Amino acid sequence: MPVARPRILPDTPQDPRYDPSCTRCARLAEFRELVRAENPGYWCKPVPPFGDPSARFVIVGLAPGMHGANATGRPFTGDYAGILLFETLHAFGWANQPRGAAVGDGLALRNCRISNAVKCLPPQNKPLPVEIANCASYLTADLATLESGGVMLALGRIAHDAALRALGFKVRDFAFGHGARHELRDASRELVLFDSYHCSRYNTNTGRLTREMFHAVFASIAAHFASSGQAAA
Ligand code: SF4
Repeated sequence: MPVARPRILPDTPQDPRYDPSCTRCARLAEFRELVRAENPGYWCKPVPPFGDPSARFVIVGLAPGMHGANATGRPFTGDYAGILLFETLHAFGWANQPRGAAVGDGLALRNCRISNAVKCLPPQNKPLPVEIANCASYLTADLATLESGGVMLALGRIAHDAALRALGFKVRDFAFGHGARHELRDASRELVLFDSYHCSRYNTNTGRLTREMFHAVFASIAAHFASSGQAAA
């Protein structure tokens, strides 16, 4: 049973980055209870970010997968998308091991954190716009920890849009595209947002995203860190 698990955020309703008992989205709160009834050992709560709390590199995914993060309580852990993601993070030095299929497996991220635009499992992996908006304050609070010079990677268009909105930028000013790089400046800091197609089973099975394409995005991020004089990991 996925009970004991590493967590970087306080498990309290007061933390603006994560509320384990959040019910802002009635549909999702009801759905996670339905899934819990059918899968008593599953996490079935909002899934908090995972990784280095002071990371300068934050990956933004979409939402927990039914039998992945929703089961284990750790982003991308136990689902197909995590296979390519953790293998890639390890290849570029952001993870201490190439696999992250189960909580308690020793996986640790260096200078990297993984968050989701939507913290609760959505039916058919499709959150409604209002649910993305409901969850935005948690992402805003999480991304607020990024200092100037920080880097984000959005996995998919929904994550791209959610990250921009969470930071107060207009989506229409930054078009999503695989491999795209966006410079985001506001009064207090300069951040860079990279885009990739989501490393989902559908995208990799259809060839929309290959391992080489995914690695190329991470190579660009590593090169950005190097060119800006920052240690990547
Ligand atoms: S998706 Fe986000 S806002 Fe909606 S219930 Fe879950 S934690 Fe709350």
